[in-house]
Amino acid sequence: MRDFFPPRRLLLGPGPSMVPPRVLQALSAPLLGHLDPAFLTVMNDIQQSLRPLFATTNPFTIAVSGTGSAGMEAAIVNIVEPGDAVIVGVNGVFGTRLATVVERCGGKAIKLDVPWGQVIPPDMIETALRRSSPVKAVVLVHAETSTGAWQPLEPVGAMCRNHQALLIVDAVTSLGGVPVDVDRWGIDVCYSATQKCLSCPPGLAPLTLSPQALSVIKSRRTPCQSWYLDMGLVADYWAEGSRAYHHTAPVSMLYALRESLGLIEQEGLPARFARHQLNSDALVAGLMELELTPLPSAEHRLPMLSCVTVPPHLDEGAVRQQLLQQFGIEIGGGLGPLKGKVWRIGLMGESCTEANVLTFLNALEEIFIRYGWLSTPGVALQAAARIYSRAM
Ligand SMILES: *Cc1c(COP(=O)(O)O)cnc(C)c1O
Repeated sequence: MRDFFPPRRLLLGPGPSMVPPRVLQALSAPLLGHLDPAFLTVMNDIQQSLRPLFATTNPFTIAVSGTGSAGMEAAIVNIVEPGDAVIVGVNGVFGTRLATVVERCGGKAIKLDVPWGQVIPPDMIETALRRSSPVKAVVLVHAETSTGAWQPLEPVGAMCRNHQALLIVDAVTSLGGVPVDVDRWGIDVCYSATQKCLSCPPGLAPLTLSPQALSVIKSRRTPCQSWYLDMGLVADYWAEGSRAYHHTAPVSMLYALRESLGLIEQEGLPARFARHQLNSDALVAGLMELELTPLPSAEHRLPMLSCVTVPPHLDEGAVRQQLLQQFGIEIGGGLGPLKGKVWRIGLMGESCTEANVLTFLNALEEIFIRYGWLSTPGVALQAAARIYSRAM
């Protein structure tokens, strides 16, 4: 077989994001048995660092083996039993996927559909809870990566409590980029993924379960339909003092996650959130000068993912191809109904720097100039620079 050398890329898409060298190095450390006492300290460290990241004291806080979608399945298959009514906010690809998973579990998905780019209004959730009682759970995507919409969650937890419904939240893209306050917001099940704002390779899905969610899982009428993702069984491996074999832990990935959580701790969450907001403000200011307008309204725009509509006179595919081939920069195109209509620019974790924002805007201006789409070169860079100088 020939050697493979991946080309150098600046990953500014919807994930994976750039991975710090320290994390890549951790991946190459010698393996340990997954029941080795030395490895168990790695697991403990991960659990201890994940709790403040999720802002929770939940003892059940682990990393599920698999990507974000494994976290999603774990969240749904453990809670939903045949016949259960589940309210699902559907405003993009991931809400759609969640509704599918609910239905595959035999659940009745009550879909709250809103146009892509918008968020699910909390009073729409309240109305659905009242109309459809009893509801087993409400499922929402905190950061809808397909549209850049930032779902408000604060008012929803209390509504769920009042109707004895669990609150399940997809924090795949939000965790590590904006606050995810599991305990304060009354979230019962929250999952994420390693390759977005945690800046670790894809392969693990952090997951936390409230005591209430755990008791719902323990009192199931039917066994969880997935053996691999049965959190009742997986719990015995992660529980200190028990550590019973369930499946072989992805040892190297857990080394990597431990390292990336260490880097997040070092930076501190408030500084990390501020970094995401500042770089996003600069990016959006620059994009607006190029007539690239964010799809969500100003109050519901995610900092780590900007989804902008591309004017019809631009050949969006050709621009993305040039960004990749000439500048080594990856950004995302649109999915589903947004295919060919939007760009999705991610500033997640390690990818989220001033240098990357300016590099990207510069490359984009250069391409626009070549096509004759930009009459006053430098406008995007200037707009971004103004945001940075104001922040100094
Ligand atoms: C990326 C993503 C997922 C799926 O994660 P994979 O790692 O691709 O399986 C789920 N939800 C959201 C919001 C995402 O952005």
